[in-house]
Amino acid sequence: MSWLADLSLMLFPDTCQVCGDALVDGEEVMCLRCDMRMPRCNYHLHPLHPVSVRFAAFKVARIAAMFPYMRHNEYARLIQKSKYNGHPQIDRMLAGKFARELLPSGFFSGIDLILPVPMHFWKQAMRGFNQAAEIARGISAVTGLPVSDNLVLPRRHATQTRRNASQRMANAKGRFSVVYPHELEGRHVLIVDDVITTGATILACADAVREAAPTATVSVLALSATRFRE
Ligand SMILES: [Zn+2]
Repeated sequence: MSWLADLSLMLFPDTCQVCGDALVDGEEVMCLRCDMRMPRCNYHLHPLHPVSVRFAAFKVARIAAMFPYMRHNEYARLIQKSKYNGHPQIDRMLAGKFARELLPSGFFSGIDLILPVPMHFWKQAMRGFNQAAEIARGISAVTGLPVSDNLVLPRRHATQTRRNASQRMANAKGRFSVVYPHELEGRHVLIVDDVITTGATILACADAVREAAPTATVSVLALSATRFRE
């Protein structure tokens, strides 16, 4: 069904990106049936969940992810299609949907601004967009929170995909930097990305923020998270 749903996005944007069925009024990205069947992470509701505990250990105030990422799962295809097939509106709409789900829980209360995980200049030029920035836009449209481009990736780094977790952690550390530290002092920032795998990338971003602005509070949001272990 994947290729059909993919083709349908180009021809008929009003189709479910999971099953390919037509969407009705009020449905976005996916149909109500696929939405109901989508597994949810709900870390933000469970402070003792191992993922919540792990991020708390790294001084992350709050963490939220929409659904667990499993490579061959039909829902993982939403992320893959957005990133690799050039449909950033999927990420944007999913982020808006997730933000609406999170609003009643108070997840966004006290948060001042959104910082998308930056992408290397050339990689972004090749892809045409940064998926984290698209997610930030989707959340901003619902919450009214401003999106900042204060977090940057100044130097080229080796690709992350062929490295193991500890190599990634070492490689990720110190890669990101903050352009205007004063903008983040005393603020509560929400760092956003599409998928959390080992957590190395987003935690390196959190480190960069706190190094530049020690009084900043950091929370994290991703559309999806793999079931990673320590
Ligand atoms: Zn569907």
